[in-house]
Amino acid sequence: MDHFIQIKDMLMGLDPLTWWLALLAIFGLSTGFFTGYFRARKIQPNGFKWPIFRREVGWAVFNVSVTTLVLGAVSSFLKAKGWISFNSEPASGWVIAMEYAIYFLGFDTWFYWWHRLMHMERFYNLTHKVHHGSITPNPVTSLSMNPVEGIIEGAWVPVLTSLLTLHETTMIFVIPTAVVMGQYVHSGFEILPSWWNRSWLTKWFISATFHDQHHRYFKGNYGGYTTIWDHICGTVRPRYEVDFVKITTRPIRRAPDAKREKATT
Ligand SMILES: [Zn+2]
Ligand SMILES: [Zn+2]
Repeated sequence: MDHFIQIKDMLMGLDPLTWWLALLAIFGLSTGFFTGYFRARKIQPNGFKWPIFRREVGWAVFNVSVTTLVLGAVSSFLKAKGWISFNSEPASGWVIAMEYAIYFLGFDTWFYWWHRLMHMERFYNLTHKVHHGSITPNPVTSLSMNPVEGIIEGAWVPVLTSLLTLHETTMIFVIPTAVVMGQYVHSGFEILPSWWNRSWLTKWFISATFHDQHHRYFKGNYGGYTTIWDHICGTVRPRYEVDFVKITTRPIRRAPDAKREKATT
């Protein structure tokens, strides 16, 4: 009974915005499920395998435990020594946007070059092999990696905050970005519109298909947040844009139609 009251208090304590966002997410997910949208937008249909998923869960738990412990200890040490500090003063939206852009493009550069290095034969087994055990990514894949890789990638935040004193407000956006991007690119579903790579404004941001293809084909599409370095270095998969349009223009069929179609083919 006590637990029930605690849960009730927790739910009542949520602010209206969180409630609206949660309701919107539930509405969006159920609409996508019942209309057949998710079935149409599954990047690799029929790729899910339980034994691989179980292995991913094990590595994810191990990686998160070790990585948070190590990076937490390093960050606390650097804070105590005065290397890492944050600015708690209010700042204009432009300053926050600039600092956020430095984090975003900085992480993308950090990730691209470490990622390329981890693909080199002599470093691969010790760092990146575990993450590539997943050929059809799902949200758990984003955490399923050797802690050596987890620490390398997560180190960008302590490195950046040691070099620059960012505003606390900027930091509010940093962790959610890392979580949302990690979940989205490994989701296994493409939710972006088919014109994404044709628009000069949006083509620089990666899609779930972009990273999904990195898992499926192993070579090419190394970027973490953007396609910029892949474009500069010529490492975008040649068929990426064609495949992206194919996935995002698949017809959406309701479950009974899809089943009937399968039965007749
Ligand atoms: Zn890789
Ligand atoms: Zn991945």
